[in-house]
Amino acid sequence: MNRRNKDNPSGTAAAGAKTPGAKSGPPGAPASNFIRDIIIRDLETGKFGGRVHTRFPPEPNGYLHIGHAKSICLNFGLADEFGGKCNLRFDDTNPTKEEQEYVDSIIEDVRWLGFDWEDRLFFASDYFDQLYEWAVQLIKAGKAYVCDLTADQIREYRGTLSSAGKESPYRNRSVEENLELFERMKAGEFPDGSRTLRAKIDMAHPNVNMRDPVMYRILHERHHRTGDKWCIYPTYDWAHGQSDSIEGITHSICTLEFADHRPLYDWFLDALGVYHPQQIEFGRLNLTYTVLSKRKLLTLVEKGYVRGWDDPRMPTISGMRRRGYTPEAIRNFCERIGVARTDGVVELSLLEYFVREDLNKRAPRRMGVLRPLRLVIENYPEDQVEELEAINNPEDPSAGTRKVPFSKVLYIERDDFRVEPPPKYYRLAPGREVRLRYAYFVTCTGYTVDEETGEVTEVRCTYDPATRGGNAPDGRKVKSTMHWVSAAHAIDAEVRLYDRLFTRENPNDESEGKDFTAYVNPNSLEVLAGCKLEPSLREAQPGERYQFERLGYFCVDPDSAPDRPVFNRTVTLRDTWARIEKAMKERKA
Ligand code: ATP
Ligand code: MG
Repeated sequence: MNRRNKDNPSGTAAAGAKTPGAKSGPPGAPASNFIRDIIIRDLETGKFGGRVHTRFPPEPNGYLHIGHAKSICLNFGLADEFGGKCNLRFDDTNPTKEEQEYVDSIIEDVRWLGFDWEDRLFFASDYFDQLYEWAVQLIKAGKAYVCDLTADQIREYRGTLSSAGKESPYRNRSVEENLELFERMKAGEFPDGSRTLRAKIDMAHPNVNMRDPVMYRILHERHHRTGDKWCIYPTYDWAHGQSDSIEGITHSICTLEFADHRPLYDWFLDALGVYHPQQIEFGRLNLTYTVLSKRKLLTLVEKGYVRGWDDPRMPTISGMRRRGYTPEAIRNFCERIGVARTDGVVELSLLEYFVREDLNKRAPRRMGVLRPLRLVIENYPEDQVEELEAINNPEDPSAGTRKVPFSKVLYIERDDFRVEPPPKYYRLAPGREVRLRYAYFVTCTGYTVDEETGEVTEVRCTYDPATRGGNAPDGRKVKSTMHWVSAAHAIDAEVRLYDRLFTRENPNDESEGKDFTAYVNPNSLEVLAGCKLEPSLREAQPGERYQFERLGYFCVDPDSAPDRPVFNRTVTLRDTWARIEKAMKERKA
């Protein structure tokens, strides 16, 4: 049976049109989004002299996840579309949480997704000298001061959304005193946390971000790039907008939580009198049945809920790569979910839909048996082996064909035989005839049962030599086609099956007083040893992706050893578009 129609009954066009946040349109047409519209308008008015320059600014404190992919596709995609540029910039202002390992993984992941920053790989730490000079400039202008309040006191003085803050007693230090103290902060004379440099704005401002925010804190910590040069580090708020300005960014695209910081970024740039990018906020991506916060993902890794950042169950780019997702599938998904001004939740099954759609086109078909059951063909000659021709990919005639050995003893899927078949079960059962894919029609003549366990240990059948290739010359039909592997030729493999990482659609919901780890799915990984695969898979290399007929898409894991491949199931073949649509409707209801 060919599954491709079931797999994609309505085609890409319908999928795109019904994706939340996406404009309906012809298949493959980019969904429009409000950021694109802003850029088009800016190009028309010549706002940035016709330039489009974006950046993707990760903090190297974890691995990238699918939410970052949305931001990457957006920033690099818009630059590509309008003949502009996109930088990769690490916002590495917090040495306590940042590591070279994360920098390396982020570089690898952005590249793997298919994007190119050319020679524009930058680090906020490259700008530490400039930021220091600018801080001195603000002190001289009476717009920044050294404050001796502790972190707790600063919080206390800040006030709340409904009440004004209180001015720091250190707020009115002279410029000279501030310059001297700031210099000594830099020279390492004071312990961590004893002093900060703060912008002097307005402690009664309705936006709490404007209530004298901290620009520098003292941290005697080694930085992964600047080493021990600095013991004061700029806050993200102080570094981010200026980094964009230094790089000449036109459209500084970020997620919604920074909307309230925009007035502060504007204030800094105006106070310095430097080039001013335009910040635009968009809604974060959330996916059902997973978490997309680096802090939470780190917890999963550190507490051993998963095997690492690249565990195939993780929503990280590296996890998805290991699982077998393609960059094209992730990019198509990101394009289709579009960009909105509000945070959105997207079905995990929608991402899987795009993975299936892409793998359907590119994955070679193979036969493999996950839970083997011996099938003996009683009338097949003992020592005969036939090389039968099998199609590599019905979606891609250029993929050609291969030979698969067939012999007297085969393995079939345990699930493909029933002693007493229930209604609508059309696979093998006593007396019943089925087709073995690319081979022959076989009719079940008997079976053996283990007396102790009651388990079927072997099935017997006869074959009809006239049906070679899988068609009966007399035109008779069978209701089922099954995959198989020749026992003498099969290679053993380990196969890892995955389920959702969480049992709840929204594991972030703490309304029952539990944190997200309470909802980790204890059955998210099932390891099958002793799977039997057709011999052409002997040489399969890590990263290669296949469709095992009737079972799903699989990807060779780096844990593979010579002659003993390990496969991850990327995604099953099922989950029709209709089901995904139903799930999306139920969410809305
Ligand atoms: P987290 O909260 O998981 O640590 P973050 O936003 O702090 O994520 P950054 O490294 O600062 O992580 O993110 C880099 C870029 O990716 C930012 O521009 C951020 O807005 C964007 N981004 C992060 N998470 C998402 C998401 N879920 N959806 C869309 N964009 C995101
Ligand atoms: Mg961030």
